[in-house]
Amino acid sequence: MKARLVSFYDLCPEVRHFVFEAPDLAALDFKPGQFVSFSAEIGGKKILRPYSIASPPDGSNRFDLCLNRVPGGLLSPVLFDMRPGDEIEMKGPLGYFTLRNPGREAVFVATGTGIAPFRSLLLAHVPEISSPFTLVFGTRYEETLLYRGEFEDLARRHPHFRFLPVLSRPPAHWQGLTGHVQPHMLEAIGARRDLDVYLCGLKLMVDDARALLKDLGFDRKQIIFEKYD
Ligand SMILES: Cc1cc2nc3c(=O)[nH]c(=O)nc-3n(C[C@H](O)[C@H](O)[C@H](O)COP(=O)(O)OP(=O)(O)OC[C@H]3O[C@@H](n4cnc5c(N)ncnc54)[C@H](O)[C@@H]3O)c2cc1C
Repeated sequence: MKARLVSFYDLCPEVRHFVFEAPDLAALDFKPGQFVSFSAEIGGKKILRPYSIASPPDGSNRFDLCLNRVPGGLLSPVLFDMRPGDEIEMKGPLGYFTLRNPGREAVFVATGTGIAPFRSLLLAHVPEISSPFTLVFGTRYEETLLYRGEFEDLARRHPHFRFLPVLSRPPAHWQGLTGHVQPHMLEAIGARRDLDVYLCGLKLMVDDARALLKDLGFDRKQIIFEKYD
C-alpha cells in the first residue's frame, strides 16, 4: 500500500516529525510500538527501511513518524525530500515491540529517535493503565530532547508516570540528569527485579543496557528491545 505525506515539522536540526496517511485504508490498525516498512527504488535497487510509528492509534488512517536524516544514508534523505502529497510504498504495521504485560511496572529507555515507539506506547497506555511507568530518555543537548513538553505534560497529569530526561552535553543551567542513560536506568530500577525494561535506540546503547540487566539477573523475557542499526 501507499503512505502519503500530510505534513511535517522539524523537531531540531536533522530530526523531523512526519504525519502520514494510508490513503487506501479507512483506519490503520496497529498496536502502539509497532513499525511500518517504507521502500523506494534507489539507484536501480529496492531499498526497504522500517520506521516505528510515533503516535498512538486514533482510529484514523493517519500516523506519525520521527526520524533523523542519516548522513550518507540511502532512504532517510529521500524521506526528508518528501513534500506534502508525495507518496511512498509502505508495508505494515509490523513487529512485536508492544506492551507485553499491561499490569506490570516498566522502565522505558530510549536514546535519540529511539523515542518514537515510546511516544506511541506511553501516550496510548499511560492514561489507561495505572502501573508505574518510568521513561529514561537520553540525548546530547537540551534542544534535542524530542517531545519533551508532551512527556512533561503526561507526567504532570499522571503521577504514576515518571519522565527522566538525561543530557550527555548539558548546558550550564541544567539541573537534571547527565551522562549516559545506563546508570540512570539502573537507578530507576533500584533493587527491583520484577519490572519489565523496554530499550530502543542504536545497538551500542541497547546491547550495553541488555548486558547490565542480564548481570543483575533480569530474565530475557523482561528485557524487550528494538535496535535501529
Ligand atoms: C524496527 C526499526 C524501527 C526503526 N525506526 C526508526 C525510527 O522511528 N526513526 C529513525 O530515525 N530510524 C528508525 N530506524 C532506522 C531506519 O530503519 C534506518 O536504518 C535509518 O533511517 C537509516 O536508513 P538510511 O537508508 O538512510 O541509511 P543506510 O543507508 O541504511 O545507512 C545506515 C547507517 O545509518 C546508521 N543508522 C541507522 N539508523 C540510524 C539512526 N536512527 N540514527 C543514526 N544512525 C542510524 C546505521 O548504523 C548505518 O551505519 C528503525 C530501524 C528498525 C530496525
